[in-house]
Amino acid sequence: MSKIPPHIIDEIMQTSRIEEVIGEFVNLKRAGSNLKGLSPFTDEKTPSFVVSPAKQIFKCFSTSKGGTVVSFLMEKEHYSYPEALRWLADKYGIQIPEEAPATAEQLAAISERESLYIINEFAKDHFFKNLHETEEGKAIALSYFEERGFRKDIIEKFQLGYCLNTGDDLTKAALGKGYKLEYLEKVGLVKSKEERQFDFFRGRVMFPIQSVTGRVLGFGGRTLFTDKKIAKYFNSPESIIYNKSEILYGLFYSKGDIIKYDNCFLCEGYTDVISMYQAGIQNVVSSSGTSLTKEQIKLIRRYTQNITILYDGDAAGIKASFRGIDLILEEGMNVKVVLFPEGEDPDSYSKKATSSELELYIKDHTQDFISFKADILLKGGETDPIKKAELIRDVVQSVALIPDQITRSVYIQSIANQFDISEQIVSNELIKFRKNTVAKQLQEPEIAALPVDKPEATTYLATTGNQEETTHFNEYDLIRIMVRYGTRIIHVDQQNEEGKSLKVETTVLELIHHELDKDELTFSNQLYGKIYSLLIEGLNKNELYSPSYLKRMEDQSIVVFVTDIESQDQELSAKWFSKYNIVTRSEGDRMNELVMNAIYSFKSAKIEEKIIFIRKQLEKADELEDTELMDLLAEQMAYEKIKIIFAEKLGRIILR
Ligand code: ATP
Ligand code: MN
Repeated sequence: MSKIPPHIIDEIMQTSRIEEVIGEFVNLKRAGSNLKGLSPFTDEKTPSFVVSPAKQIFKCFSTSKGGTVVSFLMEKEHYSYPEALRWLADKYGIQIPEEAPATAEQLAAISERESLYIINEFAKDHFFKNLHETEEGKAIALSYFEERGFRKDIIEKFQLGYCLNTGDDLTKAALGKGYKLEYLEKVGLVKSKEERQFDFFRGRVMFPIQSVTGRVLGFGGRTLFTDKKIAKYFNSPESIIYNKSEILYGLFYSKGDIIKYDNCFLCEGYTDVISMYQAGIQNVVSSSGTSLTKEQIKLIRRYTQNITILYDGDAAGIKASFRGIDLILEEGMNVKVVLFPEGEDPDSYSKKATSSELELYIKDHTQDFISFKADILLKGGETDPIKKAELIRDVVQSVALIPDQITRSVYIQSIANQFDISEQIVSNELIKFRKNTVAKQLQEPEIAALPVDKPEATTYLATTGNQEETTHFNEYDLIRIMVRYGTRIIHVDQQNEEGKSLKVETTVLELIHHELDKDELTFSNQLYGKIYSLLIEGLNKNELYSPSYLKRMEDQSIVVFVTDIESQDQELSAKWFSKYNIVTRSEGDRMNELVMNAIYSFKSAKIEEKIIFIRKQLEKADELEDTELMDLLAEQMAYEKIKIIFAEKLGRIILR
């Protein structure tokens, strides 16, 4: 799918009513100018979930989640950013044009994509009808499914179908509808041979493969012939709408239960998914037709951090599960394994067992990956020291892939315990394997985690106490002002090159940027730093980003930060108003004071940090060369002087 053009994103955001959308999920009651209800994110008994129709934001006070209507859908429905926008566009009847095509070729590609979707949808319905309404379908295909034990409601749910064995039944129907032969060939439904066309999937029962949102991307088809020379399964070829490595069979149906149970069962095929689903285990997907990929794991991660691999106990199944384990660990997710008896997969097992027996089997045979590997690799050689050493190395190698250090430590302990060796040895072994991967990781800086914790306003003018806190607060306050008031015009005194004082008209954003740039100061908090660079990037393009612009961004850490500032604002004024029954003079009315104060508080905090740093070095004075010592003292003096200047400036701002 192509990108949604910015003006359409604007239209979606402007048309959507947050209270209407959230009203579909939460029972909202009026409370003053806001709406209130029970948080959909917790089990709370007293409502702490507030929606502001005026500001078009929500805030959940029990989970401290908050944001725009898009953030809500991403949080509640686990949509990606474009998916949330498309959902809203659909609800409000806004047409999303495919991105303005620059060339005729692009235009063709877009209508081609839409055409392929339409053709697949048509084929799915056609196959479904064949299964239920033709003699051949009922006699051969439907009875096959029944024999497999698939229930009627399940066959309907998964939209299973049948491609007649006549040769060109689908081809004729599709061409008759006016679908282009070229497109029918592209989705792999029709093959041409010497000017003649025939159905690629003829004589096969059909499994439609759907996207997360239910669009038919392709098919799997199983032959009903027992002839060993015929491939048991055919799959649609890759096309612009079907990218095997980014699709999981069944996810469209299972995502709700994956979230609910906070776990995803991963198996090998279509029939496994369907049988498990029928047996009541509905948080299940498969990577049909491919070996598991990184993209597929990332897809699961949208819904849960936990994957349980269910594989056949034969050599191929075990090999696949080993590779799967490493890939999952590498993505920072948790993995467990259930091995079925050799020659059995979830589908065949569930045919022999009742639903509760299947459930019990899974429960009893779920292993963490360490003991799973131990069972497999030590089989028969439990006392062989060489085998044991190899196994430990193998397991440590897997642990080395885990990106999070704390999780790694937990596994190190667990390995040490399970194999009865010292943690130190395991740890040393791990370091060897980490050397290569660590370097790779450093290139991708991690962005500070959410939610943003706001320092208490009481530290506002604190000059004593915990310096780290003071710095954090001053950073927060400055970035808050940049976001909230950045676009405001402000008049300030600036000195020109000859030292003459001039009144300059500028924006809050530019002023702050100028002041920080001059002293080469930056933010140490990662989120604030990210927002700062974003705003400056805009400035360099002569664009001033308003809060509402920032709230439309894909990066939800920014959206949440902005809405947090706004809701805080609202809380404060409401509190003041109700307490004193007066209109307070808002901070917006004293812009100069506010901005200059924030800048100099920020600078003071940075200076203070530098002074503390120098003092620490001076404490080790006897280790220092004389010249080093002199330099440090001189630096300290300089900073102390600046500190006094800043304090004076601050004093004047406050007194004025
Ligand atoms: P049988 O009735 O002989 O057990 P089956 O239809 O259950 O046949 P299996 O050979 O048991 O198929 O394979 C198990 C799963 O693996 C199937 O659900 C199928 O989805 C998947 N599978 C097997 N081969 C392929 C293939 N070539 N492409 C895609 N999926 C496949
Ligand atoms: Mn099978």
